[in-house]
Amino acid sequence: MPIATVNPATGELEKEFEPHDDAEVERRLARAAAGAREWGRVSLADRGRLVVGAADLLEGELPDVARVLTTEMGKTFAAAKGEVAKCAAALKYFAEHAPGMLADEPVATKAADSRIVYQPMGPVLAVMPWNFPLWQVIRFAAPALMAGNVGLLKHASNVPQTALYLEDLFRRAGLPPGAFQTLLVGADRVEAVIADHRVRAVTLTGSEGAGRSVAAAAGRALKKSVLELGGSDPFVVLPSADLERATTVACEARVQNNGQSCIAAKRFVVHRAVYDAFVDGFVRRMASLEVGDPMDSGTDVGPLALESGRRAIHDQVEDARAHGAAVLCGGEVPEGPGWYYPPTVLAGITPAMRVATEEVFGPVACVYRVDSADEALQVANDSAFGLGAAVFTDDPSEQRRFVEELEAGLVFVNAMVASTPELPFGGVKLSGYGRELDTLGLREFCDVKTVWRA
Ligand code: NAP
Repeated sequence: MPIATVNPATGELEKEFEPHDDAEVERRLARAAAGAREWGRVSLADRGRLVVGAADLLEGELPDVARVLTTEMGKTFAAAKGEVAKCAAALKYFAEHAPGMLADEPVATKAADSRIVYQPMGPVLAVMPWNFPLWQVIRFAAPALMAGNVGLLKHASNVPQTALYLEDLFRRAGLPPGAFQTLLVGADRVEAVIADHRVRAVTLTGSEGAGRSVAAAAGRALKKSVLELGGSDPFVVLPSADLERATTVACEARVQNNGQSCIAAKRFVVHRAVYDAFVDGFVRRMASLEVGDPMDSGTDVGPLALESGRRAIHDQVEDARAHGAAVLCGGEVPEGPGWYYPPTVLAGITPAMRVATEEVFGPVACVYRVDSADEALQVANDSAFGLGAAVFTDDPSEQRRFVEELEAGLVFVNAMVASTPELPFGGVKLSGYGRELDTLGLREFCDVKTVWRA
């Protein structure tokens, strides 16, 4: 895949970049190793000041950065501005809270003094996806940098301008040159970077296939890895739910980011008592969304980021149709330039359909009708993935049961699944392992040192 910006709204190549050659990658690895020694010795207070400086720059440049995100991967300009603001807030959050998260923890033992100490690991490779091109990187970088690590970013090949902007942002904020660097390389060069003796660990956010490759490479090199992979999140609606709210949130949860979010609700599991009313409201909402130019403030859903992504999602819809699914709205590729796809609702899903087992990465919803809360749980958990799950019910005992029994890393009750710096984020089963954000995320890339003084 070339390293290039191709505008998904027009299909036009805007800018192409020469990949870094071996000599340039070597220079950057050497700079990362030197940077790690330097940055690791900077006091937490100074790290915090510099990271807040990066947040301030980001806020000052918000519309320009948002325009780059929209141009590179097609999210609406409004969503892009929200993403930039969220990144600035996360940088400030970790600048403020990292000192507490990293403080020594004294533990009572037979020693005169024993404690747990959290120390930086050094250079960490981050292999990142295009769907939230700024947020996915910042949610790794903010805690990792505050912990004293340095970052090497291998971003998705279709968002090189965002990748280079991030390197430039941290440099202009005054962090040492080796603290955060971008490697303009393809996926085929990742294994060699993981194997390099200067790289201590790797984090990947991406698809299951990329996860398997990166985890295998990390295993061969005996290095720590964190994987944030795909999902097929259930969205359960039970009879006591506020139906108006459930349908509104369902629509937003499916089409957020033009349908390309790992935690987008993908399978809508609805109790028969409210099925007809839910489907009626949901389809009406999905069909009335404005699809169009992502820079236009009236647009709800922009284009898919990649032509191959649109092909993949339409193939899934066609497969479902061929196996007897009802297409309640959408389901046709529009004429004209750009990789647009209409919000689509499929019903009558059977296990033979690919949509029943695969991740559906676009604005296509699958609705399931169930007869009971038991069946809702069984359908919700009948997935190899386990990232997020939402349940809508006003019954407290049902809420408790679903929180306990849903097989997911994130369970949201009467709300759509989301991420926030104060809470850990990550999945179970094939959605990956390890956590980002919160203290747990920050400590993923710390060496834990046990200290005993007799
Ligand atoms: P992707 O194709 O897996 O790519 C992600 C990153 O991995 C890119 O930088 C890509 O580089 C690289 N890559 C791909 N194959 C690789 C391999 N075999 N070895 C090493 N690196 C490899 O995913 P995407 O299409 O960009 O993003 C969508 C996926 O990410 C979805 O599955 C989504 O659910 C998941 N995601 C998960 C989370 C989460 O937090 N759990 C968040 C967002 C997205 P190239 O671009 O150069 O190929």
